[in-house]
Amino acid sequence: MTIKHQARKRFGQNFLVDQQIISQIVSAVNPQPDENLIEIGPGMAAITEHLVKLCPTMSVLELDRDLVEFLGEKFAHCPDFNIHSGDALKTDFGEFYQGRELRLVGNLPYNISTPLLFHLLNVRHLIKDMHFMLQREVVDRLGATPGTKAYGRLSVMIQYHCRVMPLIPVPPESFRPAPKVQSAVVRLKPHKTMPCTAFDEKLLSKIVAQSFQMRRKTLRNCLKPYAEHLGAATDIIDLGRRPEQLSVTDFVTLSNLIHNSIKSNETVIR
Ligand code: SAH
Repeated sequence: MTIKHQARKRFGQNFLVDQQIISQIVSAVNPQPDENLIEIGPGMAAITEHLVKLCPTMSVLELDRDLVEFLGEKFAHCPDFNIHSGDALKTDFGEFYQGRELRLVGNLPYNISTPLLFHLLNVRHLIKDMHFMLQREVVDRLGATPGTKAYGRLSVMIQYHCRVMPLIPVPPESFRPAPKVQSAVVRLKPHKTMPCTAFDEKLLSKIVAQSFQMRRKTLRNCLKPYAEHLGAATDIIDLGRRPEQLSVTDFVTLSNLIHNSIKSNETVIR
């Protein structure tokens, strides 16, 4: 079946046309028949048509209603294939769970990739793994190690929750229309056992955000709003360092010390 579909910029549509890249993605995902596989933004089914052969009960979630209609026709002969029409950012992925860990796949629109990752982290305990095509620069930031230019808030917050594995570099020519930037496929696997646990994840997130707001300054300077709670931290973390020099574990330690100080102050006031 063929349709003429004009790629829509507002839906971030860059369709994959490179069969070699498509087959590399499918091999990396390696879907099994009984898995809870969900593709976000299937588009014209470039990846989907291969995935569905390996996992006939898979689901897709597509925002563009014209494409939803197209997919309905294309896969009319696949009775177990599930099509959902909707916005991934507003979707409660918990509803897909039904006792089976989610495996998510998507060549994501670049404008929604970071908010979508954070949206998905809310249900990370239900997710087995995720394979996403993202801007190369975003993949570099996701996997960055301390002390590098790419290391920042995104690296710390994603690595706190997931193991990050950059897999396949993808050039602009692999898409129609070709995007202006390089892309890459990354695998994210939420930790089954957390390497380190923040007592208060919201506080961790605030401290990391605050720290990287001024990445050239020392931590002591960046964390001025928390000055009265840094006492215990000074013995353990060198606050004369820059935020980009701290590992994920360092940030968790710092946030837990600040958390303890806030809590003990509250106790005194009571
Ligand atoms: N997977 C296809 C299409 C990639 S283009 C391929 O590789 O060729 C990105 C796709 O995501 C488009 O189909 C677009 O309509 C869809 N999309 C964009 N925003 C979305 C959102 N918020 N939720 C779900 N799908 C979305």
